[in-house]
Amino acid sequence: DDVRRKYVKDKKLGEGTYAVVSLGYLKTDPSVFVAIKKIKVNAEYKDGLTMDAIREVKYLQELSHPNIIALHDVFSSKDQTLNLVLEYLPRGDLEMLIKDGNIQYGAADVKAWMGMLARGVWFCHENFVLHRDIKPNNLLIASDGEVKLADFGLARSFADPYLNMTHQVITRWYRPPELLYGARQYSGAVDVWSMGMVFAELLIRVPFVAGNSDLDQISKICEAFGTPTDDNWPGVSKLPNYFPPDRAHIIPLQGRDFFVRQFPTAGPVGADLLMSMCALDPRKRSTARQILSHSWWSTEPKPTKKEDLPKKA
Ligand code: ADP
Repeated sequence: DDVRRKYVKDKKLGEGTYAVVSLGYLKTDPSVFVAIKKIKVNAEYKDGLTMDAIREVKYLQELSHPNIIALHDVFSSKDQTLNLVLEYLPRGDLEMLIKDGNIQYGAADVKAWMGMLARGVWFCHENFVLHRDIKPNNLLIASDGEVKLADFGLARSFADPYLNMTHQVITRWYRPPELLYGARQYSGAVDVWSMGMVFAELLIRVPFVAGNSDLDQISKICEAFGTPTDDNWPGVSKLPNYFPPDRAHIIPLQGRDFFVRQFPTAGPVGADLLMSMCALDPRKRSTARQILSHSWWSTEPKPTKKEDLPKKA
């Protein structure tokens, strides 16, 4: 109750599948803005947002990094819904920039955005937190141009799963092959795959692998990168949803020249980094730490300074 009373709710900023987001400010200092995200809580949770649930969210409050959205507070309101008090990020998200035909950007800008994303992901993984839903629409932009990881699948885990399934469809394009095959144990490599898909999309300005069903997503991944087999990915055939490839249509794993040809803007060094994020076998995928030590970051062109990055009108 004390927490709820710290903030004043202002106008509605937007509405997503699982939440309504409003602008808010500190009662004691109206110049401090926040975004208050009210989660549409699922019936199971409704009878009492357990302390466990709140505690889980609170854990994220401790993840403090320039490339991760700050979670200032959590409270439940009178109607038993969960409210997250988040850092206010007024400059939209990467999806808006990618889709806005009036905005031009180049390799140096992509390098700056990817650098911020990679540092945020590295920090999460260092602290044993997986994001699980990295996509351009979840990469919000602060007023100083800093890109921040938002929407830690949190909303999802509390929300009503029957509310709207279309959300899933969007996320599919960034989902790694191990999850599509139904792997139940997974690692930071899931986020690295998604990061690779964001990298590719920033370069070509359309989603790179856009399946219209889970099965279609798998076949498009195979077409793009090669068919997963026990040879190139030991153990893959034991995953629950794996289906043996049609022997006549096994596509060999793509090599470096494929990536160089497909993503000329990245240059050969950038294409090499992208390729390392798109390894089918999660154990062969580079880790966030390896990504940060790649030579692409120090190859010309230098990343654009965040204050000089292109922004929406
Ligand atoms: P979605 O992910 O479907 O966009 P969200 O519930 O995450 O849905 O957010 C709904 C809208 O609220 C977003 O499109 C955005 O315009 C706005 N929004 C979300 N979070 C913030 C924030 N931290 N700062 C400013 N605006 C936000």
